[in-house]
Amino acid sequence: MNLREIILGGVFLTISIVTGVFQELNRHQEILDFFAYDKTMRHKLVQNMREQEKFLNIKYKNIPELKYLIPRELGKNRRFFCGYYNQEKNIIYYNSEIEMCGPDETLRHEVAHSYIIKKCLENKTCKNYRESTDDEFKMVISNLMNEGIAEYFDRGLKNKKTEFTDEELPEELEDFKFVIYDAGYHLVKPIIDEFRGKGVDYLIQNPPTPEELFNLPAYRERILEELNDFYD
Ligand SMILES: [Zn+2]
Repeated sequence: MNLREIILGGVFLTISIVTGVFQELNRHQEILDFFAYDKTMRHKLVQNMREQEKFLNIKYKNIPELKYLIPRELGKNRRFFCGYYNQEKNIIYYNSEIEMCGPDETLRHEVAHSYIIKKCLENKTCKNYRESTDDEFKMVISNLMNEGIAEYFDRGLKNKKTEFTDEELPEELEDFKFVIYDAGYHLVKPIIDEFRGKGVDYLIQNPPTPEELFNLPAYRERILEELNDFYD
């Protein structure tokens, strides 16, 4: 080994040590950034939950865990989801990679699913609606109520009006999937506006019958009347 090789070897060694140190520092910074991000998100979640509890006069039983990648169980379209709530694990998944998925909006909506499921499980008649089933009517009704109420926990708290009208409610079962969030929110809004948490709980336990699915304004009237009778 001549002097030139020794110098070159030394230079390479120094470069690789410096690079290694930088990589290590970067990794360290990434971990610190992640913890800071996670802490901010948890804080946001709790803040939103307290706001919902106060507005609706409800009580959450616990605070779900938070994760930031949408899990594989949602299939290949999972990267298009803003959020997802897994009830078995009590985890909210928030997709931090999509810019349009606002963290507050997504957390308010997803944590509502945790409330709805727990309330539903307290009541035996509700059980059928949370199990996945081949009965398309039950699936549509379950989605409509789940998403409509969850949207209220987000939009309703901010008193966001809906452009949706009764005339736009679908006449065919398969058309509900195109409007499930807007139609659901539009359906439950007047009920929860008036009865807050009592309305939420009553809706969870009294979803529309398959016949009422095609006359949702009448269903809404029925629920309002029943609640008025009950709380008068
Ligand atoms: Zn949802």
